[in-house]
Amino acid sequence: MSPYAQMLSPLDLGHVVLPNRVLMGSMHTGLEETGDWNRVAEFYAERARGGVGLMVTGGMAPNREGGVFPGAAGLFTPADIANHRRVTDRVHAAGGRIAMQILHAGRYAYGPECVSASAVKSPISPFQPRALDETGIEKQISDIVTAAARAREAGYDGVEVMGSEGYFLNQFLVRHVNRRDDRWGGSYENRMRLPVEVVARVRAAVGRDFILIYRISLIDLVPDGSSWAEVVQLARAIEAAGASLLNTGIGWHEARVPTIATSVPRAAFTWLTARLRPEVGIPVIASNRINTPELAESILASGQADMVSMARPFLADPDFVAKAAAGRADEIAPCIACNQACLDHTFSGKISSCLVNPRAGHETELPVTPAAVPKAIAVVGAGPAGMAAAITAAGRGHRVTLFERAAEIGGQLTLAREVPGKEEFRGLVGWFATMIARSGVTLRLGTEAVPAALAGFDEVIIATGVSARDPGIATDPRASVLGYAEVLRGARVGARVAIVGAGGIGFDVAEYLTQSGESATLHPAEWRREWGVGDPALSPGGLAEPAPAAPARAVTLLQRKPEKPGRKLGKTTGWIHRAQLAARGVKMLGGVNYERIAPEGLHVSFGAARENPTLIEADAVVLCAGQTSNRGLAEALAALGRPCHIIGGADVAGELDAKRAIDQGTRLALSL
Ligand code: NAP
Ligand code: SF4
Repeated sequence: MSPYAQMLSPLDLGHVVLPNRVLMGSMHTGLEETGDWNRVAEFYAERARGGVGLMVTGGMAPNREGGVFPGAAGLFTPADIANHRRVTDRVHAAGGRIAMQILHAGRYAYGPECVSASAVKSPISPFQPRALDETGIEKQISDIVTAAARAREAGYDGVEVMGSEGYFLNQFLVRHVNRRDDRWGGSYENRMRLPVEVVARVRAAVGRDFILIYRISLIDLVPDGSSWAEVVQLARAIEAAGASLLNTGIGWHEARVPTIATSVPRAAFTWLTARLRPEVGIPVIASNRINTPELAESILASGQADMVSMARPFLADPDFVAKAAAGRADEIAPCIACNQACLDHTFSGKISSCLVNPRAGHETELPVTPAAVPKAIAVVGAGPAGMAAAITAAGRGHRVTLFERAAEIGGQLTLAREVPGKEEFRGLVGWFATMIARSGVTLRLGTEAVPAALAGFDEVIIATGVSARDPGIATDPRASVLGYAEVLRGARVGARVAIVGAGGIGFDVAEYLTQSGESATLHPAEWRREWGVGDPALSPGGLAEPAPAAPARAVTLLQRKPEKPGRKLGKTTGWIHRAQLAARGVKMLGGVNYERIAPEGLHVSFGAARENPTLIEADAVVLCAGQTSNRGLAEALAALGRPCHIIGGADVAGELDAKRAIDQGTRLALSL
């Protein structure tokens, strides 16, 4: 029997039987807005071929005022319907099923036309919404119903009505946004009238033989959010109104609690899905931070849910289900929940992709084809760039030898995985090891590649990575100065620490050094305490007073730029790192000059005039001042007139991250 018997078992929805219990959750990819519908169709078709039971598209706007941003895609014209028909046809031809999400953003719509229950601005939007009158509410309902009918016309198998995450329907449910005193406000009966009416009228419009998913907010994580009794009341009413499935939503977008970042424990919120399940008769879907078939299986086998939703894991690996079913689960490329190439892209107006799988969203541009002429390829350096190049090239039929000076693979990833809250990187290194072995790459660990050893290869790829930059600060030999790599590998560090450099690694090192005991990411109850996640049955919205653990050390994080440290961290995760360090009492200083490092600490001054000399008392100074490229081998080859490809940190060290490294390695290997 498969170890994933529950996950792979069918789910009977009456008019249709889903082949398994895995839902690809909705993600905004930005592909629809490119206007390249072949690209959109191929994105979903590739995932349909990978065996997922049901997919949900990114949110489609029901009308202009409800779009997340001006120009957000929707089914407004016959041409739109025809475009969506290309997607559904391709998905059905691949044996898949797909539902369209209808997303009305309400006051989260990024534009002056936005509407809501009352004219109450969201803390994360510059736009004050217009309070809808009775006619306006009717228009919104009928636009949502029309979108559902058009989805059916476009060939979708169903729709998902987005009722969580603080969007339009969710806004009507809570008093702090819904200040109305008409039949749409006041009592809970009135506040939930809108979502219930929407579901009933969508059902009436699309008929019984159409999947209707409602995404319900189980814990709002905002002050004055819904109580658990209200959640249950709504769930029952939504079921009675005709929904086929209840999907889980966690936290409003304005919540100050992370809900999907990598530091959130896996399956951190399935206890709420488990609590809802016995209250209703329709299947409920668990969501958030589920990324392995083992976890999906345990959630289903323990009765916490009827189905499991994973979104980003299908960017990382479209074949998630097929590989699990074929007994090759260890080949599933893991989503590490970093957001770096998916949500961070979305919020920067770029197409969503994936750090682990740069082909995501670029399927038509980056097809994987067998090599026309299999070659002997040497890759030097088994960091992310080199490993990605090696496995991609070998997968295409090249004969690849991967040289690594260290005794293990991973490069900088072996440091990232030591940071509390970044445990997912362990799985990424493990996956690379599996794929190197399975793809037939010859791995030469503990081997420093020299030019002579590279003779005889048709192509040489240099991925020799980076070395920590020495910032050249005047240093007393009696002072304790450490590099970040030494620290993350376990060097002893005193009680008071000054960190030079407040980039991604400075922040990581500060988290590592202030962590007392084990990472809360591995201990969900502790994590909930730290972030103030309570029980919505006890406090509406499920917020409690955060109780961060006492920091293990006193840390000061410094940079020369006269700006707030951490400004350049990830768009969707930077706030989490800043909040975490603030909760641990880390002092952050910008605009410093490093004068000297002494046994008593780090002497700094401020500004161009080097004013205000200050001693940052510290038992140790840790250098996190960026990196420089390791190009010795590349230069030696160049001197011999031998061509090579240079990728990753060896190519450009500045602001290098695994996303750029893996992308560059993959693209190069696809071109050889
Ligand atoms: P980084 O982000 O470039 O930061 C380097 C830091 O060192 C900056 O704070 C810089 O600030 C300082 N610095 C640069 N030159 C210096 C000098 N000569 N003397 C003193 N200070 C100097 O590099 P990183 O922190 O090493 O990270 C490397 C890459 O990994 C980055 O792309 C980063 O985004 C990525 N990464 C990402 C994450 C993540 O969570 N997404 C985590 C870790 C690393 P000043 O010049 O203002 O002093
Ligand atoms: Fe997951 Fe990171 Fe890929 Fe996004 S970019 S899908 S979070 S691994």
